[in-house]
Amino acid sequence: MPRWTPTRRLLAALLAALATGVLTMAEPTTLSEDPEFARVVAPAATLETVASGLRFTEGPVWSDEEGGFLLFSDIPGDRIYRWSAAGGLSVFREPSHNANGNTRDAAGRLLTCEHGSRRVTRTERDGTATTLAERFQGKRLNSPNDIVVDRRGRLWFTDPPYGLQRQEVGKELDKQHVFRLDASDGSLVSVAEDFDRPNGLCFSPDESLLYIADSSSRRHVRVFSATPDGALVDGRVFCEIDKGVPDGMRVDREGRLYSSAGDGVHVFAPDGRRLGKILTPQGVANLCFGGADRRTLYMTAHSAVYAIRVETPGI
Ligand code: MG
Repeated sequence: MPRWTPTRRLLAALLAALATGVLTMAEPTTLSEDPEFARVVAPAATLETVASGLRFTEGPVWSDEEGGFLLFSDIPGDRIYRWSAAGGLSVFREPSHNANGNTRDAAGRLLTCEHGSRRVTRTERDGTATTLAERFQGKRLNSPNDIVVDRRGRLWFTDPPYGLQRQEVGKELDKQHVFRLDASDGSLVSVAEDFDRPNGLCFSPDESLLYIADSSSRRHVRVFSATPDGALVDGRVFCEIDKGVPDGMRVDREGRLYSSAGDGVHVFAPDGRRLGKILTPQGVANLCFGGADRRTLYMTAHSAVYAIRVETPGI
């Protein structure tokens, strides 16, 4: 017979509680590193699992239409999924040509970076897809990764080789460009060519700054001043990611940058100071703000999609 000490009794009670599911070991969902993090997420905010059991999720984008819904890519699954609180999860497009990043233009049309077909497409209101870009100077793009549209209707996207076999088979361009595409005349201009793995990108609220992630071993986000005629100048390193690499990014209405990372989402003040982290069970590859109030942050994280309520609306 074991001798029942108070410690043994406590241990037995804990084991029994775990076995019956009465007690769950709650992981922290946030890490505050600055008082300003209170403007980002409340200490009591909880992480919700929106979808799970997928392969590698990316490219979340919100729509206010039809009561509000989220689209996101499963790149190797070759699908774009649709999710809403009312309707749950369904397949929006299959095959998706290994779609990665998505965004919407001012008219609400879906803009998509496709790895498989190595192009950028726009989905028209009737559901047909128009190819907007697939070649630069006569050569096939590497594998467009992520995309953003500015208020002038210009598209900006990154072109690392992640979608190519071993990141090299069939590669025609010798660089990994960041492109600007004028949808009115289809002209494609390289605005940066010194990135190793250009990846997520987003504008500051007034669109004077463009943030671009380099998800190579550099693991940093650079920021550029965007001139009215569409050039990028004064590039500098804005922040570095200390867990994993930066991938998709968004800003909130007060100008904070939310970058994906290996342990969740890292949030930075406009001066580059890290304010804290939103921690997730799997590394995050991309994120977007959604809900009618833009105060739900959706995070695509490997096999799952998570959501958390935030304090400041996003863009
Ligand atoms: Mg990406």
